[in-house]
Amino acid sequence: MDLARLAREHGTPLYVYDRDDLRRAHSDLRSALPDPSRIYFSVKANPHPHVASVLAEAGCHAEIASAGEVGAALAAGFPADRVLMTGPGKSPEDLRKAFGNGVRRFSVDSPTDLARIGAHAARAGVEADCLLRVNADEPVPGMGLSMTGTASVFGADASWVLARPELFRRSGAAVVRGLHLYMGTNIEDGEVLFRQFETSLRLAGLVGSALGVPLAELDLGGGFGMPYARSGERPDFTGLRPRLEKVLDHAVPGWQAGDPLVSFESGRYLAGGCGRLVNRVLDVKESKGRTFVVLDSGINHLGGMSGLRRIPRIVPDLLPVEHRGGEVADCTVAGPLCTPLDTWCQGVTLPELRPGDLVAVPNVGAYGLTAGLLAFLGHPAPKELVLDAGSVVSLSEVAINRDFSDT
Ligand SMILES: *Cc1c(COP(=O)(O)O)cnc(C)c1O
Repeated sequence: MDLARLAREHGTPLYVYDRDDLRRAHSDLRSALPDPSRIYFSVKANPHPHVASVLAEAGCHAEIASAGEVGAALAAGFPADRVLMTGPGKSPEDLRKAFGNGVRRFSVDSPTDLARIGAHAARAGVEADCLLRVNADEPVPGMGLSMTGTASVFGADASWVLARPELFRRSGAAVVRGLHLYMGTNIEDGEVLFRQFETSLRLAGLVGSALGVPLAELDLGGGFGMPYARSGERPDFTGLRPRLEKVLDHAVPGWQAGDPLVSFESGRYLAGGCGRLVNRVLDVKESKGRTFVVLDSGINHLGGMSGLRRIPRIVPDLLPVEHRGGEVADCTVAGPLCTPLDTWCQGVTLPELRPGDLVAVPNVGAYGLTAGLLAFLGHPAPKELVLDAGSVVSLSEVAINRDFSDT
């Protein structure tokens, strides 16, 4: 991939996505998971229609969590009956958009959520097929950023469901027909992943028998790790499959026949490796003994959430597109925004860089532009270029517009 030429032709900052890599990632994940099983692609990781469409073509379902993502999933070619809407705060607008476009499947987080979905389903004259999202009461040992085992906005505590199962079976036209467990994210250790799924299965058994309804689907979540904004390969999870198949045989003997259907979710493992962000160095200068490298992208285009210190800070790798040799210690990498929060990293050793040089941040096909802070300061979005078999298949630029049409 000739990034220098692409940057010359299309300018910087430039996201470059490779559809071949998405196909490889999907095939890797497919072969690491039990057969049969369903894979949901988490559209929030990369809603670009020409990125997500590869996963739709590969047979994935879509996991979405907003009215906007209803549109993104359909634009990528996911049929409405392959879309699952999740999220702890589904607004009437989200549900109108979902039902209006034929989405009928929801992960529910509380009795209120179930009732709201049931009311919208009744109004649409359809039944909503729901998975009850369960928050485990115990953490999984060895897990990183955990979304479960602690107080959580996501799902209903297992202890709540066990104590009051009648609140969680159905409401109006919303019927619970499965469970959704999602325990963590970005786990690169296959052993920890396996223990997480084991815990999920155990919990599903408990909650399932308390609910006493037939469970057509067990969504065991995901957490498949992937290097983010730094070099490295997709972890090899092929060891998971035989071990998972064995515990499934024991816990849910009908799973091979799809009773229940077993499913998994992934955003970063599927999409992370397909993208890189190419930047130009705008300035290199010294301040009090430190070197500041100023790029034409910052937290507006990558890592906005970590720039706000909401998730573990990323330390992006800056790979020189044309290397001149030499290294500089104690560098701060800053973006163009007028806030000291706009630093990707500090105290890092970098290749020697000069204004005008190109650098590429690898593995940002997931949580790249979509997790940035595009509205802040109003810099234009980076162009997004999609390659397939080495050829450019699309070039686009996200724009934020203020719409006055309601006034
Ligand atoms: C964000 C999210 C995912 C995807 O997480 P990754 O770490 O990108 O794989 C999966 N499921 C749910 C419910 C999510 O919110």
